[in-house]
Amino acid sequence: MRELRESVIRLAQVPPEGLLFQGLVPVSALPRLEEAVAGMVGEGVEVDLRLEPNNDVYILHGRVQGAVELECESCRARFRFPLQEALQLTIDPNPENDLYRDPTQKGEVWVIDHSDEQIEAPEGRFELVESLEDEWLLELPISPRCAEGCKGICPVCGTDRNEAECGCSSSPRESPFDVLAQLKRDE
Ligand SMILES: [Zn+2]
Ligand SMILES: [Zn+2]
Repeated sequence: MRELRESVIRLAQVPPEGLLFQGLVPVSALPRLEEAVAGMVGEGVEVDLRLEPNNDVYILHGRVQGAVELECESCRARFRFPLQEALQLTIDPNPENDLYRDPTQKGEVWVIDHSDEQIEAPEGRFELVESLEDEWLLELPISPRCAEGCKGICPVCGTDRNEAECGCSSSPRESPFDVLAQLKRDE
């Protein structure tokens, strides 16, 4: 499979019918992603993307196949986290045009229009692999969990409570139900 590495695309040279990017973005081309996760799955991320001009901007869209391994914040187990399969990014080759004077403010108040999440490509230079890596970093959860109802590790004895009931009674955190029960009792 063709490997896609760091590549700067000159947007002015993209033909009207677009450019295709098909192949593997190898792990070695994704150092920031590799650093942010517990492990990479496979040799990298497979992409099948098309970059097309669209009025004043460019659209990069297509399919992504790849996954990373994350560590569950609660039980410390590693689990597989697939990257979003459908990808669509808007690339703005003229980010300075989005700067406009805010009419609601007096004087010279310039604001940048961030209404649409766009990738800036100053001077029409678009960094494909770097932008993809940015996008995949944004997909990573802040608090990774192996499963919705992960019970975590017992703070008393260290047993993985997803695998066994340890029978420890002390709970370090009061559940909202305990608090509710207490309120009822106090009535
Ligand atoms: Zn877990
Ligand atoms: Zn325990």
